[in-house]
Amino acid sequence: PASFDPAVIRRDFPILQRQVHGRPLAYLDSAATSQKPGAVIDALAEFYRQSNANVHRGIHTLAEEATAAYEGARARTAAFLGAREDEIVFTRGATEALNLVAWGWALHRLRPGDTILVTLMEHHSNLVPWQQVAARGGFHLRAVPLTGDGRLDRDAFTRLLEEHRPKVVALAHMSNVLGTINPVAELARQARQAGAVVVVDGAQSVPHLPVDVAELGVDFLAFSAHKMLGPTGLGVLYGRRERLAEMEPLLGGGGMIRQVEVERSTWADPPHRFEAGTPPIAEAAAFTAALDYLERLGMEAVAAHERELVRYAWERLREIPGLTIYGPAPEHRGGVISFTVEGVHPHDLAQVLDGEGVAIRAGHHCTQPLHRHLGVVATARASFYIYNDRDDVDRLVAALHHARRLLAGS
Ligand code: PMP
Repeated sequence: PASFDPAVIRRDFPILQRQVHGRPLAYLDSAATSQKPGAVIDALAEFYRQSNANVHRGIHTLAEEATAAYEGARARTAAFLGAREDEIVFTRGATEALNLVAWGWALHRLRPGDTILVTLMEHHSNLVPWQQVAARGGFHLRAVPLTGDGRLDRDAFTRLLEEHRPKVVALAHMSNVLGTINPVAELARQARQAGAVVVVDGAQSVPHLPVDVAELGVDFLAFSAHKMLGPTGLGVLYGRRERLAEMEPLLGGGGMIRQVEVERSTWADPPHRFEAGTPPIAEAAAFTAALDYLERLGMEAVAAHERELVRYAWERLREIPGLTIYGPAPEHRGGVISFTVEGVHPHDLAQVLDGEGVAIRAGHHCTQPLHRHLGVVATARASFYIYNDRDDVDRLVAALHHARRLLAGS
């Protein structure tokens, strides 16, 4: 794939020009949220400056422009994923998208005693909604265990499919802690053959890897715009047409109906059935600019850049005495590295690094069951994106040496 120069990319990101505690910012927290290029910030402002109006049914120029911007973003998102336009539902984020599948689809389609299969590496947003609907509907919840190096245990997965015949298999494409990239296409084929509907949390994969829903062969895929150069407040649920037709709306109101009488209503077709109320219009317009930016780089090139960087970071971090990296070897992971340093609390580590202008995250990263499995209450996490380069990694490593001297006294 064509490559790009992160130093050139960085010039497009105003926030990366600022300093933190008198140091240039080394932003290594893109798994939490990415920074935004000027083109996205401008698109957001430009919508409010030029085209602001509500969508649908407005017979005036601004309303038509707003509708074109909103529906145009849907078309662009569909093309980005290899999906049809009517398979793209806009939500507030990945979390809302996963909740919509759990409450709108699973709760109505499953029967008491049915099993939902998740994995031990799930983010709380692909676990808690399943717990909630399992409690409501009388379903069982099982989790696929992990191998010692933080990958899914494929034998256990096969066994759980055979023994429990789950009606839903819900799993992350890429772990936000271990960095593990799960072989979703293979797992989905296996799960669907066993009669399950496959729900994929793509919050960490869609921003970083080429993702084509036809190639993956999944039923649902959820992700957030804000982790892929876009604005907050906008998420995407891709749903196979047959699945969306089976799903109940969670919110009733304007924009999601066909006909309303005092005592009953009928629903609009998907995707509008699931988009009650005024949607995030400006955010959708800005998301189009984010997709433009990523497509110009090419997702193959984005993935290759992060693979190279994570390999370098992996080698450099291992120089640091007492540092443990969680998760698989670089060839099985994306641009996320979680670690602990012996004798130092991850929060203290993050604080000292912040003083050096190095932004990482510390905590359980919304994966408490995974951290319990790893035997730690918290980890420190560095995550990469298109604007990071080896210099950021070198700054991280230097700051970690400094933190060890300060905190571990060695
Ligand atoms: N799943 C994963 C794997 C994530 O990393 C995140 C974001 N931390 C989410 C789901 C939830 O995304 P959001 O908060 O944007 O809804």
